[in-house]
Amino acid sequence: MFQSQVSAQTSVRRIILLATALGFAVIGMIWTAVEMDIRQERAFAKRTAVQTAENYARLFDEHIRQSINETDNTIKFIRQDYLRELGTFDLQAWVQNQYSFKELALQFAIIGADGRMETTTTAGAAPRVDLSDREHFRVHVASTTDELFISQPVLGRASGRWSIQLTRRITDDAGVFRGVIVASLDPYYLSRFYDSIDLGKGGGITVVGRDQIVRVMAGLSRQTLGSRYVDEPSVTRAVRDGFFVSMGGNREAGRATAYRAINDWPLVVAVRVDDSDARQLRITAAAHTRLISTALSIGVLAVILLGIAYWRRFGEALAALTKSRAAAKATTHELHQTLNNMTQGILMVDGNGQVAVINQNALNFLGLPETFTREGFLLADLLAYEGKTGDRIVVDVHGGTAPESDYLSVREHQCAGGKFLEICTRHLPGGGFVQTYSDITERKRSEQALRDARDIAEKASQVRTAFLATMSHEIRTPLNGIIGMSSILEATQLSAEQHGYLKTIHECGKALLDIVNDVLDYAKLDSGAVALEQMAVDVRGLATSVKEMLGPRALEKNLSFDLVVADDVPARIETDGTRIRQVLINLVANALKFTLSGGVVVSVATRNLAGGRSGLRFSVIDSGIGIADESRVRLFKEFSQVDASITRRFGGTGLGLAICKRIVDALGGEIGVDSMLGKGSTFWFDVPAREVAAALPEPARASRTQLPARLSVLLVEDNPVNQQVATLLLTAMGHAVTVAEHGRVALDLAADQAFDVILMDMQMPVMDGTQTSRALRSGTGPNCKTAIIGLTANAFASDRQACLDAGMDDFLAKPVTREKLDAVLAELAQHPPTTAPKAAANGDVDQAFRRALFDEIGPDASVMLLETFIAEALRLLAETQAAAAAGNTVAVAGLLHQLKGAAANLGHSGIVDLTATAPEDLVESAALQSFATRLEAYLAAEKHDLRAAA
Ligand code: ADP
Repeated sequence: MFQSQVSAQTSVRRIILLATALGFAVIGMIWTAVEMDIRQERAFAKRTAVQTAENYARLFDEHIRQSINETDNTIKFIRQDYLRELGTFDLQAWVQNQYSFKELALQFAIIGADGRMETTTTAGAAPRVDLSDREHFRVHVASTTDELFISQPVLGRASGRWSIQLTRRITDDAGVFRGVIVASLDPYYLSRFYDSIDLGKGGGITVVGRDQIVRVMAGLSRQTLGSRYVDEPSVTRAVRDGFFVSMGGNREAGRATAYRAINDWPLVVAVRVDDSDARQLRITAAAHTRLISTALSIGVLAVILLGIAYWRRFGEALAALTKSRAAAKATTHELHQTLNNMTQGILMVDGNGQVAVINQNALNFLGLPETFTREGFLLADLLAYEGKTGDRIVVDVHGGTAPESDYLSVREHQCAGGKFLEICTRHLPGGGFVQTYSDITERKRSEQALRDARDIAEKASQVRTAFLATMSHEIRTPLNGIIGMSSILEATQLSAEQHGYLKTIHECGKALLDIVNDVLDYAKLDSGAVALEQMAVDVRGLATSVKEMLGPRALEKNLSFDLVVADDVPARIETDGTRIRQVLINLVANALKFTLSGGVVVSVATRNLAGGRSGLRFSVIDSGIGIADESRVRLFKEFSQVDASITRRFGGTGLGLAICKRIVDALGGEIGVDSMLGKGSTFWFDVPAREVAAALPEPARASRTQLPARLSVLLVEDNPVNQQVATLLLTAMGHAVTVAEHGRVALDLAADQAFDVILMDMQMPVMDGTQTSRALRSGTGPNCKTAIIGLTANAFASDRQACLDAGMDDFLAKPVTREKLDAVLAELAQHPPTTAPKAAANGDVDQAFRRALFDEIGPDASVMLLETFIAEALRLLAETQAAAAAGNTVAVAGLLHQLKGAAANLGHSGIVDLTATAPEDLVESAALQSFATRLEAYLAAEKHDLRAAA
């Protein structure tokens, strides 16, 4: 992990070093080139200077040599002529003809052997000047050799000017010394000539004698004339070597002095070339070049430094990258560890169908060999392997298009070995998927155990409920007998005392019946046997009916009883009206029970419920005995009463509020109480309430004939005691009674004979009350419009509702008593039902749904739709019957499914529920018959609606 980091850093360091070295090499090259150029320039300048000096030296050497040679020749000519014309020689005249010397030579003179000036070309010179002391004379006296002598510059005594004397000895033929010929050369003349030649600022030409005395020079002056030459060794060296060049002291060169010893004459010419200007230019140029080089070098240095900084940073970044890579590797390792340690199996397939991740557990679950751990094998390989083993676990969704990339599907799979796996598949955004496999065998097992336990519990609960239902039914039947008989007995001749006893028997019976009803109701609610129904409920109507029902009780106790419904309470809400009525009845009954003076107010108002739902609050306010705070907590618990004395004073089981609470909870609402001991209580409950459109207008009911005083009554009742009680009561009332022990018998009887009233028990073997009522109403027989009064053993509101829903006109809670019969028959006689029997569809059809549907398609289409539906349902029924008779449950299932679909389309929940019947059950003829009867009843109701609508 660190090795790669180190090597990366090393390579960066190497690159930095290399770049630095390269940079310095470039700088070095720049400077070498610059210095070489400068040096070359300098060498060239030097060479030029030397050459120039040499050339000039050669030139001036030649020039001087020739000048002296010519002068010497002239001297020799003068000497020759002088010796020939000895005594008569006229120098002045001779020189007159020699114009060529005028410039160079100042004068010519002849000195006699005595050293006195004999003649001179200088005009006005003092005659016979003694010159014997002069070197240029004495040298000839001392030596007899005929040699030209060149003097140092001297101030001429004859000419009065500085001059260089060139002299030769005059020796006559006899060898006698006759004097000296003198030619005085003008050093200034030569100097001027030299001045005219430009040899640079510090350049110059100097003619030096071997004696180191300067004879002539450029820029000659009195000071320099005859002075010693500054560089004597060079003169000495030139004399020795004949020629040599000395370089100027300055290394910028450009200055060179060429020394040349003049052939034949003891003179050395020194030409110094000094191109200071050019040198200055060169220096400036070199300085510029160096400046540029410096700038260049700085640039290169800057580039190097920047490069180093960059590479450093790059190195750091590289190190960081290496580090993060190492960290990622470590994380990957940890991930692998984690993947292998998780209890789930995981498989990840990328967009190319390659297995990107697979952990040990996945291998185990999928039963794959270890060869599948190597990275990068294909999903196809895996599927091929699974194909061979035959246990296909991997859900191949590769290449499938997921609705969303995050789409998750969960599936269970039972492996060949019996193990259960839960397979979760999630599509990945870029294609591919992740699948996890969890061993859910244990969970499955415990789920099964839970299911079993629940089934047992449910069974136990069902058994208990069934027991309670049976028990209360069993208790109720003799109880009805007691109550019924006591009411019959009441109509006979009795003493006042006997009347009193009978009344007690009667009341005890009623109290016992209430208890039994409560217990049964609670048992049903507790076991969940009661399903809630959603229907359009007329809230005001519901509250009013409760007031009407319990109003007489208030009146009995001399209590006021008011109903207040707020204006904003919707006309109709969707809820289980039966259940709400039950709760309200319970609360109002309690309020009336526990109020001794004052009264009871029932109020209904709108209310916002938790979760933003709209709802209704029903309040029952009484001015009764009130409830102590400590008692309130257990009020809604079953079998709880405020204290034992309550039971004695007011009776009751302590179940009523518990039932209410269960109902309100089931409706998704809340129930509570506010109370003050001795002042009164307010029991309230909130229920969610969704406003719904008004129900279908009820079709006008076929008019029924006015009931005669003596009625022919069909009593449909299975229980012999009840048969007896009702028959006795009705006969006593002057009516004719025909008894049918169940619905089927009743239908047979009703087919032949028209009755004025049918009293219909609800629970009966073979065919119960609702089925029979539906069949009657749907038929066209003589009793299709006869008033039917349901006899409900249960005080259950739901049972009563069921009566109305089945098309009955009214209901009568058992036990059947004289008063009750009187009341219900009087009601029928006074108000022969002006409305058609409530269409069976009302409770079994989702009215809101149907209303919306019919509104949408219009009345004509609605009628057509309903007709089609009825025809179709009848056809399906016929086919179902045929298929069931043939024992073809598969076909039955298919037909039921079709029927369900058709019914659901029209919102007929009753038929939808009916289709839930198991196809296997329908093979049994009784069940098939019951199914057919119910379906026919439903369809009859629909037909009825249709007729009414048409
Ligand atoms: P019960 O059948 O005994 O009336 P409930 O569950 O209806 O059973 O009531 C339980 C107890 O709550 C009653 O016994 C009574 O003590 C008390 N209670 C109920 N309603 C009222 C009320 N309106 N005023 C005072 N006490 C009440």
